[in-house]
Amino acid sequence: MPFPARLEIPEQVLEIARTLDRAGHEVWCVGGAVRDALLGVTRERHNLEASEIDFATSATPDQVQALFRRTVAVGVKYGTVGVIDRDRALHEVTTFRRDVSTDGRHAVVAYGVSLDDDLARRDFTINAIAYHPLKHEWRDPFGGADDLARGLVRAVGVPAQRFREDYLRILRAVRFAVRFDFRIDPATWDAAREAVPGLAQLSAERVRDEWFKALQSARSVTHAVQLWHDVGAAAQWIPELGPADPATAGYSQPAVDAEPRNPVLLVCVLCRQPSLVLRRLRASGAEIARADAIARGPAEPAGADPTAVRRWLAQVGGAADDLMALWSLRHGTAAPWAGTVRESRAKREATSRSALALDGNDLIALGVPRGPRLGEALDLLLDRVLADPAANTREHLSAIVRALP
Ligand code: ATP
Ligand code: MG
Repeated sequence: MPFPARLEIPEQVLEIARTLDRAGHEVWCVGGAVRDALLGVTRERHNLEASEIDFATSATPDQVQALFRRTVAVGVKYGTVGVIDRDRALHEVTTFRRDVSTDGRHAVVAYGVSLDDDLARRDFTINAIAYHPLKHEWRDPFGGADDLARGLVRAVGVPAQRFREDYLRILRAVRFAVRFDFRIDPATWDAAREAVPGLAQLSAERVRDEWFKALQSARSVTHAVQLWHDVGAAAQWIPELGPADPATAGYSQPAVDAEPRNPVLLVCVLCRQPSLVLRRLRASGAEIARADAIARGPAEPAGADPTAVRRWLAQVGGAADDLMALWSLRHGTAAPWAGTVRESRAKREATSRSALALDGNDLIALGVPRGPRLGEALDLLLDRVLADPAANTREHLSAIVRALP
């Protein structure tokens, strides 16, 4: 693949490069931004966060911190300083480094090395291309541009060794393959499959991040599921993952312009015992609660009439949208009752106790005793209002309460 004469780089990002260059340090653009620019894709199309440009530099972290007013110590131990540009975007500036020792999870790094050494420690050839933002030179010692053109994920160096250094690279290889619809080079693939037992050493958080990113960025979710199975990662970490099933047809389409995919929802569609999966992957309490609410259901209203839909809304509470999204994922069309939900919401119909025209204090003022009777009375009022939204007025509800035995 021939390199373009130059890459378009925003002025405020170029300023970071000029500052380092003027101080006598070498500075290159590296990593995902260079890869994506060569591919002509933008992050937006893949539902990932806005593109940020990573720099590799000969300057040490101390020198970088001294040169810029606003910095964040992102990973100083590994040589990375975050520099904030005038639009408040953060760019990672990382000192050229090589790995001194690795244990499959962490690396000890050394500085004082060249750009080529730095590129050699990167995971895949497509991620090991550098572009000089001021001189417009390219550095691509491992043929990354050719692999981009061929659609190939290939390890830099000896694949088995690279996976042993950091087992997360197995999951990264799969992620890039499904994101760009690339093949994985046979030698890299074989080494990845052999290295899979090493995934047991990774922290649940890193595995979860990769799994979620794979689901979100994949052209086809089915492909992501397939490769997680084929490489052996599913058996290791998510044995509850079902087959790469055309039932998720709604997610087989490219994510372009679609709503961002929600990984929790996808885990609910794709896995048996989603809550267990999310717990194992140390998802947040909110994410686990979300999956539990989806599992609780009911998945759909008992009938299509507005009253049944309102009763369903009252039952499922905050899970309504997730349950409708799930239905459309499974069936490939919008939930048939979604229109009724929209109308009910537009009319601000009450579907929870808190939306009733009377609250607990009002009921106490009307003579209802505190305690379980209060809750029962509120439930009764909600039941009436679900059957007849027009009944949700203070007068109406007060009359009902007064008539209570
Ligand atoms: P994304 O678009 O997902 O951010 P990226 O390629 O920028 O993709 P990052 O995780 O942001 O991925 O890492 C930036 C760069 O750092 C990569 O392109 C790669 O060169 C290098 N890198 C990241 N993680 C590893 C790793 N585990 N092993 C080796 N190199 C890595
Ligand atoms: Mg990145």
